[in-house]
Amino acid sequence: MTPVTQFNYPTQVRFGPGSMGEVPEHLTALGIQRPLLVTDKIVAELPPGQKLASCLENLPLDSAVFSGIWGNPVISQVQAGVAAFKEHKADGIVALGGGASMDVAKIIALMAHHPGSVLDYEDGNPNQKPIQNPIPPIIAIPTTAGTGSEVGRAAVVSEDGSHRKAILFHPRLLPAVVLLDPELTVGLPAKVTAATGMDALSHLGEAFLVDSFHPMADGVSLEGLGLISKSLLDCVDFANAGTGATPEHIDARGLMLTASMMGAVAFQKGLGVTHSCAHALSTVCDLHHGLANGIMLPFTFGFNRSACEDKFKRMSIAVGADGSADGFFRWLDGLRAQIGIPASLRLAGVGPEHLDDLIAFALKDSCHLENPVPVSEADFRALFQSALQA
Ligand SMILES: [Zn+2]
Repeated sequence: MTPVTQFNYPTQVRFGPGSMGEVPEHLTALGIQRPLLVTDKIVAELPPGQKLASCLENLPLDSAVFSGIWGNPVISQVQAGVAAFKEHKADGIVALGGGASMDVAKIIALMAHHPGSVLDYEDGNPNQKPIQNPIPPIIAIPTTAGTGSEVGRAAVVSEDGSHRKAILFHPRLLPAVVLLDPELTVGLPAKVTAATGMDALSHLGEAFLVDSFHPMADGVSLEGLGLISKSLLDCVDFANAGTGATPEHIDARGLMLTASMMGAVAFQKGLGVTHSCAHALSTVCDLHHGLANGIMLPFTFGFNRSACEDKFKRMSIAVGADGSADGFFRWLDGLRAQIGIPASLRLAGVGPEHLDDLIAFALKDSCHLENPVPVSEADFRALFQSALQA
């Protein structure tokens, strides 16, 4: 097991088993006296949620809990969280959970001192109101290893009726402190471990393929892919075997938590066609984001291959394959099969009747604009059809 260590890129990250126990000292350092714990319904009832809630309760501080987050978060959940923040007269947030909890926590922080509605501050809104008031500090503690939202400056929330996704962005949405505690992820079921792990893998791979000069992000991508090659299968195997918090299990979970965080650091460079497909699959078919990426990756990476042969060779070396692009694709196929990612969209409940909606949503999604190869409507049709027929 690794002792607790610290990185400051892109924010203060405390990594190591037991790092969640450092919450009190970070609250003090940030001057937070009335923290609001923001978490989801399920995590609130699990050991990480209970442990953190009781830790906050026992401090000489006045803390409160908001756990009204579930599923793909919608704006009404944010509104309830903002009401809880104001009612408690909170001055900071401790966010605990997966990507949804992180995103809702960030938007609660934004809306705490900004008037109007969430959509007034949506990124890309031509009438966007200025984000100029204070944003209370956030301590982020992820309980899944996938989105890396704990080190992101953006947050996503859906409109209640249409489920259209709105993105909010501001540099000060970046949590002030991130506690990466692998003990919190040893209880994740195998399926969640696999799907969230494929999300992290897709962030690292897609960011690396984006055609722009960003050697720092590229280095992070390759090292992150290496960490996944060393740990994702083990994490899934340990979860399937019901292995508890053994040192080997905690080590593997620690590598995945780190790789997930690195994925979000790397994708400041951009994403690509895989994420446009995944966003469409989540909106149209309610597919888990990571699972959608995991199913699409061989097709979307295959689509990019001719333009990125050298990059796939470098990815092949990073994951310990034979250094050829073919070797990388073989490694990817092997990993997907071993961790139980379905080979076809059909096996995840997607049918040909969804095709037109999927293509329409994917085209509208902005991620594919950064793809190294331009993606047309016909390309999306071919990609989804291949993934359906596989
Ligand atoms: Zn993603």
